[in-house]
Amino acid sequence: MIISESKPFPEILKSLEGDQRIFIVGCKGCAEACQTGGEAQVLEMVKQLQQEGKIVVGHSVLDFLCDKALVKFKLKPHEDAIVSADSLLIMTCGIGVQATAAVVDKVTHPGCNVVNVGGSRGEWRGDERCLECGDCLLDYTGGICPMTACTKSLINGPCGGTKDGKCEFEPETRDCGWHLIYERLKKLGNLDRMKVTLDPKDYSKMRPPENLRSTIMWALERKEKEASAK
Ligand code: SF4
Ligand code: SF4
Repeated sequence: MIISESKPFPEILKSLEGDQRIFIVGCKGCAEACQTGGEAQVLEMVKQLQQEGKIVVGHSVLDFLCDKALVKFKLKPHEDAIVSADSLLIMTCGIGVQATAAVVDKVTHPGCNVVNVGGSRGEWRGDERCLECGDCLLDYTGGICPMTACTKSLINGPCGGTKDGKCEFEPETRDCGWHLIYERLKKLGNLDRMKVTLDPKDYSKMRPPENLRSTIMWALERKEKEASAK
């Protein structure tokens, strides 16, 4: 299961600055199990945003937001509301945000941080899309993860090696992640996001919380710690 945590509400509100009409999407899969993006949390978010003066033009809780094909199909009935929205708030893992961003020509704000993917890549196969960084940056990158799309996991723009939209490491086959991010932000009229300089990544957030470390490797490490504490 992909474990997510809700972003603090003030952070969500800040990401929605300048957007008045919001469409909210939740997920009946892992996010519901984590209580970060199920029906109850989405309805609570509707209330909270309305209290802040936002207009929630619609909301939907889909079965598996990490399945790009399914997202496209399931959001179709909401097309008019989505078109009328300034942006979408996606209350699920980073893969779900990326799947939605790939099928909707709107800015997509992440409402959660992924703390552990538990070996899963979601239902949108074919590539690694989330490095469980614990502090989702998709708000700044047009819904494309810089940690996985960029070979060097750069978070503040490209290195000097990109050429013709390709990555210097595999110039024949691999797109430069930052070229993709630039093109996506340009398409969304959101290039200003690239002017934000993000703080250096706090890699300690990539370490899953103690209670989630359930693999054999973590169990052995815990045992060692407990033994040395005696
Ligand atoms: S920024 Fe990327 S690695 Fe971090 S939570 Fe979002 S999708 Fe995952
Ligand atoms: S060329 Fe692009 S994808 Fe490759 S390391 Fe540089 S910025 Fe990242």
